[in-house]
Amino acid sequence: MKAPRKFAALSLAALVTTGTAVAAPAFAVGEGPGYGGNETINTSILRSYDEVVAELKTQDARQPALELEVIGQSVKGRDLYLAKYITNPDNPTILYLTQQHGNEQLTTEGALEFIKHLGTGKSQGVLDGVNILVVPMLNPDGAMGDVDFSLDGYIADGGRTLTRTNANNVDLNRDHVNKLEPETRALHDNVMRAYDIDYMIDLHHQGAQSERDGELVSGSILYPTTPNVDPAVLEGSKRLGSVVFDAVDSTGWDHLGRYVGGNAETISRNGIAVEYGISTLLFEMRGMSDNTRESAVLGQKSNGYLIRQTVVTLSATAQAIADGSIATADTSFWGTLAEQTTRPSE
Ligand SMILES: [Zn+2]
Repeated sequence: MKAPRKFAALSLAALVTTGTAVAAPAFAVGEGPGYGGNETINTSILRSYDEVVAELKTQDARQPALELEVIGQSVKGRDLYLAKYITNPDNPTILYLTQQHGNEQLTTEGALEFIKHLGTGKSQGVLDGVNILVVPMLNPDGAMGDVDFSLDGYIADGGRTLTRTNANNVDLNRDHVNKLEPETRALHDNVMRAYDIDYMIDLHHQGAQSERDGELVSGSILYPTTPNVDPAVLEGSKRLGSVVFDAVDSTGWDHLGRYVGGNAETISRNGIAVEYGISTLLFEMRGMSDNTRESAVLGQKSNGYLIRQTVVTLSATAQAIADGSIATADTSFWGTLAEQTTRPSE
C-alpha cells in the first residue's frame, strides 16, 4: 500500500498556466486522495456553462485543427457542443464525454485543459495519429441548476447549485437505450451515429468515501460488464483501462480501484459498447461538485489533482492510440485490481 501523500494547494488559475499535460507536476496539485476533507465547497470557482462555451470558442479561434459543432440543445435550450480534431478520417477515433451528471464538473474542467494543451503545438504528433472528439458538459441544465424540481438540500455555496439529473429530473446515464431526453438523443444522433468512433471514455465523479486496499481512491475505472459486449470490443476497453491505469499510477499521487457498476445497457459504458461496437471505459473520479449528502462532496482543495488526473487520462490515451502502443497494452492488471469498497462512516 502506498503511503498517503500530501500536497500544498494549487488554485485553478495556477493550474491553467501549467505546461504540457503529461509532464510530472513541477509543483503541487492539491491534496492527494489521502485527504478526507469535506469542507464547504464554493461553486463560483467552477466554470459556468457560458464560461465553458466561451473557452471552447476561444480555443476554436486559436486552433486551426479544432472545429466546434453544436449537436443539439438541452431541455432548457442550451446548445450542446462537440469539440473535434479530425486530421485524417482513416485514423482511429476516441470520444471523451463529460458531465452527463451535472454535479460532476471537474472532469469538464480537465477536458477544457486538455483541449487547451492540444493547441500548444507540442501535440501535433498526437493529432497526426488519432481523431479526438470531446463532448464537454452534456448536461448543462443540471450543471447550472436550471431544473424543474426542487433544489432544497443541496449544500454547495457560491450562488449555484449543480444537480445530477437534467431539467426533467432524468438521469441521462440511464437513458442510453430509449434515448428519450434531448441531451441523450443529441449525443446518439449527432455523435455516436455520425462519426466512426473506436474508443470512448465516460468521465464521472463518484463521491468521496471509496477506498481500495484500505486507502481512499482518487478514482476507479471499469470496462463494459454486459454479457452482450463483443469480446474484441471488451478487450479494447481493457487495453484502454490499462493505458489509463499506467499513466495515472505513474504520477505518484493517485490511487485507483476497480469500480463496481451494473450490467444495464441503459448505462453508456454498456449500451454504447453493444450498440456501436465501441470500446468504452468508465472513469469515476473522487469527489462531486454538489450534492445533498455531505459525505459525497469533497472540498475544493482536491480540485487541482482531480483536474490533473483528467488531463493525464485524456493525454495518455490519445497518445497511446496515436502511436499504436494501445495495441500491446498489458491488461493483466485487471486480474489483481481490487474492487473499491465504501469506507465505513464514523
Ligand atoms: Zn456520474
